[in-house]
Amino acid sequence: MNQFQYVRPTKPQAAIDAVAKDANAKFIAGGTNLVDLMKRGVMTPQKLVDINRLPLAKIERQGNTLRLGALALNSAVANDAQVRERHPLLSLALNAGASPQLRNMATVGGNMLQRTRCTYFYDLSMPCNKRQPGTGCGALEGINRMHAIFGFSDKCIAVHPSDMSVALVALDATVLVSGPKGNRQLAFADFHRLPGDTPERDSNLEPGELITAVDVPDSPFTKHVHYQKVRERASYAFALLSVAAALDLDGNTIKAARLAMGGVAHKPWRLTAAEQVLVGKPATEDTFRQAATVAMQGAKAFKHNAYKLRLAPNTIVQALKTAAAV
Ligand code: SF4
Repeated sequence: MNQFQYVRPTKPQAAIDAVAKDANAKFIAGGTNLVDLMKRGVMTPQKLVDINRLPLAKIERQGNTLRLGALALNSAVANDAQVRERHPLLSLALNAGASPQLRNMATVGGNMLQRTRCTYFYDLSMPCNKRQPGTGCGALEGINRMHAIFGFSDKCIAVHPSDMSVALVALDATVLVSGPKGNRQLAFADFHRLPGDTPERDSNLEPGELITAVDVPDSPFTKHVHYQKVRERASYAFALLSVAAALDLDGNTIKAARLAMGGVAHKPWRLTAAEQVLVGKPATEDTFRQAATVAMQGAKAFKHNAYKLRLAPNTIVQALKTAAAV
């Protein structure tokens, strides 16, 4: 491992200053992804700014939202009584991710900022525009069975690995950040980026900006929800793809719906057009199939991931059926 400096500020502004003034500095919280990347030489920060002493771990109500501190542990959020009662979709998604040990270390902010699990990104002997811009994309003509079917570019076809983020984009969460230019908020849907010509950037954070919290607004999606994760073994595996589904039902009629997919794009993939198909219709398999057809418009597969073109609509239907209990 490369030599690096290590600092442990106690005030957010000191942490922000430390990273804003040094292009080779990185924040570290749980370290469940960054330490792996450093061990493999994929990321080589020269300074680590440990933010675990900052007061950002609370889960608390703020008006009609639940504020999740950026340092709240994934396990703490998943098991929090308010989250389970008001946002059970988030709890389900968190518990589908990683292992209990990792959920006890990983934080809300770190989960959002975890990097792709594209094997070429981790393999220093292979070209990768995300790891080293301008070198090419090993996955384009390589083994791309885990890769994107939406929103990719000719520079990168990787997918974002977070389960939690799929639920948060479906729940219309807001990300609170602090940085050298002050505080700002981003809609969760605008936090992660598509790769375009700059796949080295995973999010729309500016240099030195620190995630301080995520606000999850109250919603009617407290009962009929499901997070369906399809993976190659029963636990501790990243999603081939996943679906977050939430329905607000009046009898058997869908009053409102939320749908998002993971494992299909460089960012959590909200399915707003498919949601609109569901509204006002009966909660039946036929309705869910119509929404899944709309959700798949524009999907395109590569050599090894064509299975996702069938798996994705089937998983959408299954998730909606489970959410509606039909
Ligand atoms: Fe790198 Fe993205 Fe290509 Fe994977 S898909 S090799 S992360 S550029």
